[in-house]
Amino acid sequence: MAVIIPRMDQPEHVPAWQTSLARAVGSVDALLGLLRIDPAQLPECDRHSAFPLRVPHSFVARMEPGNAGDPLLRQVLPLAVEAAGAPGYLPDPLGEQQTMAGPGLLHKYHGRALLTVTGACAVHCRYCFRRHFPYGAGNPMADRQQQALQYLIEHREISEVILSGGDPLTLPDSRLSKLAARLAAIPHVTTLRLHTRLPVVLPERIDRPLLDWLANHPGRKVMIIHCNHPNEINGDVISAMQKLSAAGVALLNQSVLLHGINDTVETLIQLSESLLDAGVLPYYLHQLDRVQGAAHFEVSDAVASSLITRLHAALPGYLVPRLVREVPGHPGKTHLWPARNPAR
Ligand code: SF4
Repeated sequence: MAVIIPRMDQPEHVPAWQTSLARAVGSVDALLGLLRIDPAQLPECDRHSAFPLRVPHSFVARMEPGNAGDPLLRQVLPLAVEAAGAPGYLPDPLGEQQTMAGPGLLHKYHGRALLTVTGACAVHCRYCFRRHFPYGAGNPMADRQQQALQYLIEHREISEVILSGGDPLTLPDSRLSKLAARLAAIPHVTTLRLHTRLPVVLPERIDRPLLDWLANHPGRKVMIIHCNHPNEINGDVISAMQKLSAAGVALLNQSVLLHGINDTVETLIQLSESLLDAGVLPYYLHQLDRVQGAAHFEVSDAVASSLITRLHAALPGYLVPRLVREVPGHPGKTHLWPARNPAR
C-alpha cells in the first residue's frame, strides 16, 4: 500500500507550495473539525486506512462548512465501506504491474510511454486506481532512472513521454527539470506530457520556477489536469491555468465519473463551462477503474452514456468529454460514447 510523503528541498530553499504540502490535513477528525461536521451525519469513517486521508488546506477551503455531502469532501474522506470487498474490484485493476517495461516505466500504447516518477500526491483520492500501487519498487527517479531512459532511447517509436505518479508536480523543480532535459535530449521524444492534480488542489504549485523550466523546455508540452467537480475551480485555479497557458502548455482535463459526486448532467455541464473559463478543454470522462475500496463510487455504463448524450444535446461538441474505460490489455482506451452512438 503506497503512502509516500513528498520529498522537500533543502530548508533554506523551501518554496511556499512545499510548506503547504507538508501542512496538508492528515486526519479525519481534523478535517471534520475544520468543516464543523458532526461525524454522526456521515457513514462510518475509516480513521486507520493504509491509504490515509490527505488534503491541502486550500482544497478544504473550497468545501462547504456543515455539508456532510459536499462533493469535494466525499472525494477525500476515507469510509469504512472501502474495507468491504466487492466482486471484480482488484488491487491492480488495470494489470499495470504486468505491463511494466522497467522500474516505473509503463509502455502500454505504441507511441507513448509513462514514467511513474513518484508515489506522492497532494491529495489522496479515495477512488484512485493506483491506491495500492507498489511505488517503492517502481520509481525510476532514483538510481534506476538510467534504465528507463535507455529503454526510451532504444524505442524510437516513442514520441511522447508522460510523467505520472502519484503526482509528478510533488517533486521539486530541480529534479523535474533535470529529467525533462534528459528526455528532451532524445531526438524522437517530441512531446512531454504531465498528468497532475496539483494545479487544481494546490494551485500555488504553479510558481515562477516551474513556469520558467516549462517555458524553456523545447518541443510540445501538454498537461492533463484532473478535476471532477466545478466547485474545485476557483480564481486561484483559473490564474494558475492562465500562467501555464502563457508558458506554452496545452491544457486538457480528465475526470472520473463518480456516484454522488458528479453524476448529474447539471454538474457535468457546469464542470465543462468552468474548465473553459480556466482555458482547459474537457478531454476524458473515465468510467471508474475497479480498484479495491472504490465500489461505492461506481456509475453504470447505461447511466454514464445517458449523461453524455444529454451533455451533447446541451453543449457544443468541444465541451463534451469522451466517455472512456480502460480495459487491461487493450491497446488504447475503450470509448463508450460515441462508439455506441456514432451518428452524433
Ligand atoms: S491525485 Fe491522482 S494519483 Fe494521486 S491519489 Fe488522486 S487520482 Fe491517485
